Amino acid sequence: MNPTATDRSAIERMLRVHLEGRGIRDPRVLHAMATVPRDQFVPSEMRAHAWDDAPLPIGQGQTISQPYIVALMTELAEIEPGDRVLEVGTGCGYQTAVLLQLTPHVYTIEVRPELAEQARRRLEPLGLPPDHLRVGDGSRGWPEHAPFDAILVTAAPRTVPQPLLEQLTPGGRLVIPVGDEFSGQQLLRIRKDQEGGFATESIIPVRFVPLIPEKQTD
Ligand code: SAH
Repeated sequence: MNPTATDRSAIERMLRVHLEGRGIRDPRVLHAMATVPRDQFVPSEMRAHAWDDAPLPIGQGQTISQPYIVALMTELAEIEPGDRVLEVGTGCGYQTAVLLQLTPHVYTIEVRPELAEQARRRLEPLGLPPDHLRVGDGSRGWPEHAPFDAILVTAAPRTVPQPLLEQLTPGGRLVIPVGDEFSGQQLLRIRKDQEGGFATESIIPVRFVPLIPEKQTD
């Protein structure tokens, strides 16, 4: 948790060049990004690249998202202290750790048991209660803990899963990459209004690993 001088200058560069330089403005998001030790979430042989603005492999064909995308999705989710947040696709747990800096009420679902176990070991010391992480298909959301003020999805489905829309509070935000390798993916922010209607904003083109569809996870 105590960054070396080299880490500190790498963190500083990430903040100034890759995050502020590309438009991330929310001071709480920048502080969260500066606080979570990204080098602890990547395989040891990747540590030297931990602060680069690039996705990195975390095993099982999965990746840790690049810092800019983690910061952008967090900013788009507009998380207030005390908000209830669901993350779909825990992976190594880095995005989860960033969310935990903003609110203690974070829930996260990972479909691959081995990744979930590794993430659990990293996240419990950072304050994630054991029963806030589960193995399963996140496209069904987590009805027992719904509704959520924000839902972040870090793998791309072809279409927006209906249960996630249903599990938003009025005013809630769903931040999700949608599309496939042929048509491309767009990062969307979908806001639920007080009457239960939805407003969708298309943010930027992105490249996430595919969300494993429901039928393949049973
Ligand atoms: N949030 C991570 C990114 C992980 S990559 C980060 O901070 O870097 C996306 C993750 O989504 C992978 O670990 C993959 O196993 C998981 N995933 C894919 N389909 C899923 C599904 N249907 N439900 C839950 N997790 C899923």
